[in-house]
Order: sequence, then C-alpha cells, then structure tokens
Amino acid sequence: MFDNLSERLERSFKLLKGEGTITEINVAETLKDVRRALLDADVNYKVAKKFTDTVKEKALGQDVLTAVKPSQLMVKIVHDELTQLMGGETADFDVQGKPAVILMSGLQGSGKTTFSGKLAKLLKTKKHKSPLLVACDVYRPAAIDQLKVLGEQINVPVYAEPDSKDPVKIAQNAIQEAKAKGNDIVIIDTAGRLAIDEQMMNEIESIKKAINPNEVLFVVDSMTGQDAVNTAKEFNERLNFDGVVLTKLDGDTRGGAALSIRTVVNKPIKFVGTGEKLEAIDQFHPSRMADRILGMGDIVSLVERAQEQYDEDEAKKLQKKIQKNQFDFNDFLSQIHQIKKMGNLKELAAMIPGVGKAIKDIDIDDNAFKSIEAIIFSMTPAERTDPALINGTRRKRIADGSGTTIQEVNRLLKQFDQTRKMMKMVTGGPSKFARFMPKM
Ligand code: GDP
Repeated sequence: MFDNLSERLERSFKLLKGEGTITEINVAETLKDVRRALLDADVNYKVAKKFTDTVKEKALGQDVLTAVKPSQLMVKIVHDELTQLMGGETADFDVQGKPAVILMSGLQGSGKTTFSGKLAKLLKTKKHKSPLLVACDVYRPAAIDQLKVLGEQINVPVYAEPDSKDPVKIAQNAIQEAKAKGNDIVIIDTAGRLAIDEQMMNEIESIKKAINPNEVLFVVDSMTGQDAVNTAKEFNERLNFDGVVLTKLDGDTRGGAALSIRTVVNKPIKFVGTGEKLEAIDQFHPSRMADRILGMGDIVSLVERAQEQYDEDEAKKLQKKIQKNQFDFNDFLSQIHQIKKMGNLKELAAMIPGVGKAIKDIDIDDNAFKSIEAIIFSMTPAERTDPALINGTRRKRIADGSGTTIQEVNRLLKQFDQTRKMMKMVTGGPSKFARFMPKM
C-alpha cells in the first residue's frame, strides 16, 4: 500500500537535500511536489491544499539555526501533519455493555461481512469476549450463508431468521438472544446495496434507532478512492456513524481515501482490513500509518503481530526440543504456519524500516512456503520426526510425491540439518529461531 505515494514524497524531500536552510522558495518548491504527490494518490483537492498550507506555515516558522537538516525537518513536519490528517490519536473503540452492540454499515462488496467475522475473531481472541454475529440482510439468502461459514471458521455463533423480512426485529431478537446466552458483544451485519439507496438508508437508520448501538461502523473499500470519501459523507449525514473501517488496504490502493476521510467526515478511522484472511485486521494508528507512508516501516505493529502469535507454552516445549536436538519437521511445519498466520509475507517485510522500498519489485508471496510444505507433507510421520531415515530412495519418493525435484528435497534436508545445528548453539531458543527462518 502507498508505495507510489511514499516514493513521490521521498523525491520531494530530495529537493531540499543540498539546502542549508529552509527558505520561502525551497519550501514552496518542495510543497508543490508534495501536493502533486497527494493529488496523484487521489487525496481530495481541498485536503491536499490545506495540508501543504499548514506544512508551509510550520516549516517557515521553524528556527533555521536548528541542528537538523532542512530535509529532515521537512520529513518530521510532514510526518506530524499526516498523523494529524488521519486523526492524531488512535480512536477508542467502545465494547462496554452487556451486550455491547456494534452495527455495520456500508455498500455491498465493501467487505462488511468479512470485517464482521474479523472483528468477532479479534474480540474473541484478544479481548476474551463472547461475540454473537447477526445476519440482518433479508434480501440475499447467500449473505446469511456467508456469515454462517465465517462463524463456523472462528467458532462464533451466528443469529439469523431466514424467513423474516424485518431487519429491525431480527436485530432486537438477536440482542435478546445474546442476553439469554451470555454473549457480551453483538455484531450486526446489515444489507448493502451497490450504490446509495433510499430504502437501504431508511432501513439501517431504523435499526440504529431501535437498538441504540455502542458503535456504528461504516465500512468502505479503500480502492474506490474519491468515491469512498463521497459514500462516507452520505452515510454519515444519515447515520452519524462513530468510526470508519477501511478495507482492502492490501491492494494497490493509492491511499487517498485513508488520507481524506477523516478531514471530510470528521470521523476517525478505527480499523483497517489488509487481506481476505480473518486475521487481516488492524486497529488504525495514525502515527504508525504516517510512518508507513513515509517509508519508515512500522516495527511496532510487526512486533505486535509476532506477539499475538506467540504461545508461551508452545515456545517452552519447542525450546526443550531444540536443546535435546529433537526439533523435527513437524515443529518446522508449525513454525511456518505461525509465520503465515501473521499475514502476507511481503506486507510483513515492508513493516521493517527501510525494507519496504528495497523489496517493492520483488515478488514475495505466501507461496514462498508452498514447496517446502509440499515436501514435508510428502514425508511419512517417521521421516518427519527422524529425518536421518530419509535415504536416496525415500528422497526420490518425496520429490515425486510433492511435485518437486530431488535437488529441492536435498536442499531442504541440508538446510534443515544446518538449522538444527545452529539452533543447538543458540541458547535463547525459539525467540531467536525467527532469525534462522529466512535462511531456509
Ligand atoms: P460485503 O458485501 O460488504 O459484505 O462484502 P464481503 O465481506 O462479502 O467482501 C467482498 C469481497 O472483498 C470478498 O471477496 C472479500 O474476500 C473481499 N475483502 C474483504 N475485505 C478485504 C480486505 O481487507 N482485503 C482484500 N484483499 N479483500 C477483502
């Protein structure tokens, strides 16, 4: 995300590189470039203009005798202003109440249903809540099925009334059901339309009135650029929602929506969706997003993602195995799964400061692990726990079974052996294990 914008901004700052001081002229030139970069990223015209005006004022007001270079100073000012533009502080999310009720709104295809599943999963695993998902779309039976499938995946109950045509009643009944069954969060997925439509607006407005939710979230596809901002405006006029969910930030969105929505509707972005998987959800932190836009990486989020996957008991078990030199291909496979659960590999790598740009044109995707997994899956249980068993004939069988070559199998076995040796030397155990993964 934001690749283009990041690059363009960096180029703008270069204009100031050789300069000793900040002057009206060099600032004007740099900011002209910054504004163009923002407009090309599909940022709303008024927002872009106001942004560069503020940056200019701040830059010229700076004491030119400061020790930092003008280009560094400019990066800092732009960073702070981008943060402000996206809302400044991280917005609160209200889950108080028995149950707390979250109402989803947005157009069809924006990612509402997927997000409902992601949010339920997040609240269940991170906040130890007991969510109830509610299907309030009375027009598309497929929507109910979609939510049910998601609910099954994350083991969260789904409330639906397939024969009802009254979404207000369904929402009310669902809240009663939650009270009776002890669910402390109710997430209501509503019907969307392809475009703004009076009936849809009336319907969601009446649901809101009837159930008085803690949070009304507006879900919008960030790929739709300026349209996203316009749709947000219309929904906000009718619903006065509490927060925005920007989905599909993993795609090649130009980022304009993320940068304009807050200013245009004056409502915070609360969450972002970064993929189709149910783990691909992040709370929105304006300052971290500014880091990413300016190519500074986002190491804090990366560490958080790693921590989320870190299971202390598992880690201890693994450490013992490593110390006894019993680390085998089953452990290896589960490590791969953990890393995959953290999200898209390229996106993860891009969170490391400086790496995003370096790997921009390199194709890294989740398939990176595919042949390794295929090879391990083609091993028998005995071979996985005792790789020394794998002789020449077995290597051939594994290669055939996994659709790879003997050379690939040999390479994996050799690297696995080396890793095992290295791991034994590392007393820190699994926490340091991650460093060896890239070598595989
Ligand atoms: P709804 O009609 O608003 O309920 O939208 P859905 O939840 O059915 O999503 C529409 C499509 O967008 C589906 O194919 C989802 O898999 C996809 N989708 C949803 N969120 C994301 C996201 O954050 N990133 C990507 N790449 N796809 C997403």
